[in-house]
Amino acid sequence: MTDICDFEVTTEQGVWVCKNCRVLTPEGRKYTNPPTRSCPGIGRVLEEDQALSPQRPPSLARQAWNLARSLTDFVVDGCKTVTQKQYEARLEICDGCDHRRNNRCMKCGCRLSLKAQGRAFTCPEGKWPSVERPSQSAPGAMKVVFFSHALGRGGAERWLVDVATGLSREQFDVTIVLDNGYQDPALMRRASAVRIVPLTKWDESESVDAMVCWSRIPPEIQAEHTVFCLHGAGPFAKNMAAAVSKIPGVHLAAVSQVAADVMKQYGPVEVIYNGCPSDRAKQILDRNEVRRKYGIWPEALVVGFLGRLAAVKRPHLVARAVARLRKRGLRVRSMFVGDYTGQHRSRFEQIRRLDPYSVFTGPQENVGDYLAAMDVMMLPSQTEGFSLAMIETWMAGVPVVSTPVGAVPELENEHGSLVVRVPLEANDDVLANSIQLATSQRHKAAVTYAKRLACREYTLAAMIRRWEKYLHSL
Ligand code: SF4
Repeated sequence: MTDICDFEVTTEQGVWVCKNCRVLTPEGRKYTNPPTRSCPGIGRVLEEDQALSPQRPPSLARQAWNLARSLTDFVVDGCKTVTQKQYEARLEICDGCDHRRNNRCMKCGCRLSLKAQGRAFTCPEGKWPSVERPSQSAPGAMKVVFFSHALGRGGAERWLVDVATGLSREQFDVTIVLDNGYQDPALMRRASAVRIVPLTKWDESESVDAMVCWSRIPPEIQAEHTVFCLHGAGPFAKNMAAAVSKIPGVHLAAVSQVAADVMKQYGPVEVIYNGCPSDRAKQILDRNEVRRKYGIWPEALVVGFLGRLAAVKRPHLVARAVARLRKRGLRVRSMFVGDYTGQHRSRFEQIRRLDPYSVFTGPQENVGDYLAAMDVMMLPSQTEGFSLAMIETWMAGVPVVSTPVGAVPELENEHGSLVVRVPLEANDDVLANSIQLATSQRHKAAVTYAKRLACREYTLAAMIRRWEKYLHSL
């Protein structure tokens, strides 16, 4: 166990006792099952410890959801199975995996002897080798390559996979080319719906009609048209735009007008607004079930944050606002849904100092369950392109408190009030007031309107339509 975990096991029947809770509650709290990531008593984050916390399969609702998604992929793939050799290779990998319990994968809850047979089925940890699928594209389809240095947990990487896998197979023959950056297993699993080629194995003689990139333009891939799409408006985005502008003949695109403004000095820029798969924002689990898991009372006000704990997103402002609301006598908790490990660890420590009762769930694929457990989501970023977290929150019908960054001002100019805005330099009182306003009756109509708008204009299907139209126009 780590320095932030204070659980211990008593000698009687392996009952788990939290030293913290014993200090914080007079009777002490006891749990017959060892918690894994988050302490149900006070929401302290625990490190997973295989030896001390035996793994269980996901909840029944989650298993049903996993099964439904896998079966959809299987049917879309024409119910194809793998060869005997590929089947055995998959099970051999499972043999060496900590998530295997007999014939079951504890990560997804599936029966491995069945799951390993379907060509479209994938390992939830991305451990199975990808199975080459013959191209389903119609003859004469436009050949498009999407390039990214990595497939991590950033919004731009998710966007790239969403567009690449969403384009019509009849009209586009899509390949994702990856450099050697971090590859998130969940995103790789989704990306495997199309052909994936490492940059080092890319055949430079392969002809490509269009290449779409967001981080850099690889000289190894020669395409008739190269599209560079900008996802931000901060200093990093400005540097990228300046570097790309030196390459002649590149088509410029951006996910919002504010991002387009960064590049307009280099030539015409096409604004193609983002969109999100609405199933990510769908609620499957009960709101109180998620709250219970993290020791949050049903009546507590939960202020959420959705995304990585990156410096530019300023998640610590959520903790400051929550601490101020608590001083006003409110029962309030902060919930951070996203990566808080590795390079984000120092921000995690900072938040824990500001709000010791904060809850960290880690990255989640179906954020709808976590949004449903929140009363309001805060987006206190310094800069944004077009926040996918904001679209998901709108789709889930949860109020948003946001700084005037990214697409927020331009969308509100066009459609009217969608969020409760806070200035970039807002103090703790202003942040706390905005949260109270966002959760009040006065803001209800704006939340309903934002939900309708997101479900109509900013879905994955709407974004794909925009991209297909643009690619055909090149
Ligand atoms: S499917 Fe993946 S996560 Fe599950 S047991 Fe096999 S290798 Fe492990």
